[in-house]
Formats: sequence, C-alpha cells, structure tokens
Amino acid sequence: MSPTSSPRRRTLTAGALAATAALVAAGVQVATATAVPGRDTAIAKARANVSHNAELFGFGAGQALQVKDVVIDADGSQHVRFDRTYQGLPVVGGDLVVHQDAHGRLKDSSRAKGHNPAVRSTVPSVPAQTTAAKALAAAPGISSATSQPELVVWAADGTARLAWQTTVSGLGKQGQPSGRVIVTDATTGEEIEHFDAEHEASGTGRSEYTGDITISTTLQSNGQYALIDPVRGHTTKDAHNISSSAVKASSGTLFTDADNIWGDGRKFSSDRATAAVDAHANTAWTYDYYKNTFGRNGIKNDGKGATVFVHVGTNWDNAQWSDACFCMMTGDGDGTTDPEQVDLDTMGHEMTHGVTSATANLRYSGESGGLNESTSDIFGTMVEWYANNSVDTPDYLFSDQSTPPWLRRFDKPSLDGRSADCWSKKVGQLDVHNSSGVGNHWFFLASEGSGSRTINGVTYNSPTCNGSTVTGIGNQKIAKIWYRALTVYMTSTTDYKGARTASLNAAKDLYGAGSTEYNAVAAAWSAVSVS
Ligand SMILES: [Zn+2]
Repeated sequence: MSPTSSPRRRTLTAGALAATAALVAAGVQVATATAVPGRDTAIAKARANVSHNAELFGFGAGQALQVKDVVIDADGSQHVRFDRTYQGLPVVGGDLVVHQDAHGRLKDSSRAKGHNPAVRSTVPSVPAQTTAAKALAAAPGISSATSQPELVVWAADGTARLAWQTTVSGLGKQGQPSGRVIVTDATTGEEIEHFDAEHEASGTGRSEYTGDITISTTLQSNGQYALIDPVRGHTTKDAHNISSSAVKASSGTLFTDADNIWGDGRKFSSDRATAAVDAHANTAWTYDYYKNTFGRNGIKNDGKGATVFVHVGTNWDNAQWSDACFCMMTGDGDGTTDPEQVDLDTMGHEMTHGVTSATANLRYSGESGGLNESTSDIFGTMVEWYANNSVDTPDYLFSDQSTPPWLRRFDKPSLDGRSADCWSKKVGQLDVHNSSGVGNHWFFLASEGSGSRTINGVTYNSPTCNGSTVTGIGNQKIAKIWYRALTVYMTSTTDYKGARTASLNAAKDLYGAGSTEYNAVAAAWSAVSVS
C-alpha cells in the first residue's frame, strides 16, 4: 500500500514571518477547588485560635493571615495552614499550621522561625533599581534576564529584616527559561540568600506512542510544573493551531501542569498535553542519541536546547524544522488515519535537519537535497534504534507510527511508488524526499546486507542494482561513518559521487583503508550504482 500523506518538509528560507496578531487566548488554569465539608468553619476556628493565643503565635499589631491550605483528616481533625503578612508585606518564614480537633479546638501548632516579624522601619534605604541591578549581576548563568524586586519582611532565620526579594528571569545555559531568587537586606544592600527559582523534576507522561514514560520537567516558583527539560534545555509549547509559517520561537504557550502527570495516552486526544509528552520525550531521545553516540552537545553543538511546538496548523499532516526560529513544529496529522506527528523517528528526522544545517549544510535541491533528506531519515531511524523501545521496536521503516504502515522504507525505497532505489543521472531531478532513496538504500545494504531477512518481526528484501551480494556490518558502524562524513567531509554541494568519497574517507579514518568496514561501504555504494 502506498502512503498518501504529504512528504516531510522543512523550512527553506527564514523569510519574513507575518506577525501573529490573532493569538489564541492563553490557557488560564482555573483551580477547581474541591469542596471540603467544614473547611470554612475550620478556617474561622483557626483564626480565632491564633488570636486567642497571640503570644504563642507571635501574632501582633500590623499582622494578617492568609489561608494557604486546609487538610481535614478522616476523624475530623483539622490542619489549617497560613502565610503571614506584616503591614501588608509578605513575611518570608512566617508561615504556620494550626492543628485542631474535629470541633476546632486548638491541639497543637507548627510554626516557621519568623513568628516575630515586627521590623522597625518600612522605608528601604537601598532603592529597588539598585537592588535589581545587583541581582542581575549575581545571576551570571542567566542571560537576557529581567528582574522583579518585591519588598518583604524576611524572617526565615528568626530575625526579621526588611528585604528585597528579587526574582531574576531569563534564559539558562541551554537556552531554557530559567530563574533565580536573590534576597538582599533593604537597609544595607547586603545579600541574605539566593536560590534557583525552579527545580528539576521527573514527571509521568501518558504518551501517545510508547505507553507511560518518565519525562524531565521543571517545577517553577509558582508551584506549577512545566515542560522545560532542565538537562537538555528544550521547551515544549502548544502552538494553538497557528500555521507553520506563522510560528516563531515566542509563539504559543508553554505546557504547565499541577501534578506533573501529563496526557492520557490516546491518539487524536482532546488532552492537548498527550502529543506534548511524546514530543518532549522524543526531543530528549534525539539529544541523548547525538550526545552519547557522537559527543554532540545539542543540535548546533553549542549546548542550546530547541523550542518544540505541538498542535501546529489544522489537520497539518507534517512536521518541520526551522533554522530561523531554532524550533521544530509538529502537526496533528490528517485527522483520520495519521495521528499527531510526534513519533520518535519523525522527530529525530526533523532535528537532524538542524544538525545538517549546522554542519555540511547540504543544499536542499538536486542530489545534495536528496542526501540532506536521506541523512534525516538515517539518523531519525538510528534514534529509534538507540531508544530501543519495546513498544516502538527499532526498524527500517520511516514514520511507521504516525503515517501507518510507513511513509518511506530503506530496504527497497521504490516500494513507496516514488523513491529511487538506484542512482541515475535523473535522480537529481526528483523531489528530495524521493532522491533520498539512493542514500537510504545504501544505508540498508551497508548495515544489513542484500537479500531477504526478518529483523524485529519485520521482513525486508533488499535488491542490488548491479546484481552483487552485499554483506552488512551493522547500522551502528555505518551511522558512525555517515556522521563523520557529514560533519567532516561533506559540503553544501556534495552529490552522491561525493558522498561515496566522503564516507570512504570517514571509514578510512575510523577503521582503516581496506578494512572490512571500508570495503562494505564501497560495495554498498556500488550496489546502488554510485561508483
Ligand atoms: Zn525532511
């Protein structure tokens, strides 16, 4: 059966992107408070208990309590948590919990150190602007940062001081949203403490294609988890169905969640986070593949993470890499047979376009365009072999999950009805997604060899164009050779003949001239009519 979906493309030009005026309203999270029987009564009783025991709680003039949480046990015991203010300013370290019996009688209390928050002066001698500048200087790992000072009573060590609590927000080393909080004495300007505004977390993702998985997320200072991978630096956002041509790095909204459990594991899901789980995790797999296999530090080898968009366009059955916004975009599929385009080999393919741009920069037309596409198919597939997921078993079928049964295949590319198995003078005139067939066919022959075989339950039958029999040396070695050829020897105008030379140079560097590996590379090229 011939797949009918449109071929994977990528952005060709940076082009002037139209400003997106029609932004979809940001998804405001409405906290649906669970009605707890007796909650209001418990709070009222707790307030009365604090007032009646003012000395115990250090509760004096100018103070107020703000309810933060209420826990009511099965036996009716109540635990009411408060934050404290002094003259309208938040008291850092002034929080307390009132423990009451089922009737609201005080049983016990838990109190943070700052229960005597009275400070002499409320007029800071160090102005906010000075404080903000100082805080920015104290956050060296964070670039393009802004700062927001807030006047507080800082009493976390038991001694109350008027202080500026300044949150510096910007981008971390890998380009991910990052923040730091710096607290300075409002009278002397001295730093009291600093800490990261976010914390690395490990979320549970109910993925669309690979079951329940663990994903790297970030706990933000507002208590919400976000799809920011703090290790690899990528951020996953909802494009809210704006078209791919309108997407910029700043488009869309970051995925956030209260309990760090994401998605519902279904295709075509109404839960918008489901596709985001796959996209977020598969970006991490691709990053890890390049890092752990080749020592490559991110797509551009500069340690920076990309922005990943899901829900791009309407029924957009495609995915795309854009150098212009250093982002990747994924569509929701065709709405019937093809689900969201966030499966592993598809995402590995698109991010590999970024790697190619940053290295050989193979021109996206003619034979070099076919080699560009083939490189993305090869490494997209190798990411799948690297992940070795039991649900998405490694294969030589491309985009088999999001474009079933597959969009392209390596053993005999012409089975898609369009791609070339063998080089000819006319190959360069084909669409780049079809001239790639020669490179993909070479990759299969060099990795697995010619003829019929079954691998992980899939049967392949790879012919040769010259009637030879080719013995493969395994896809790990061939991928290693191809990566070196791409990053060391190929240039923007490399054609298939040049690719043969580049890969033989790479094989010679890695395994020696005349080695088994070198000979297998040469034999496989000859077998696809590249000599
Ligand atoms: Zn592509």
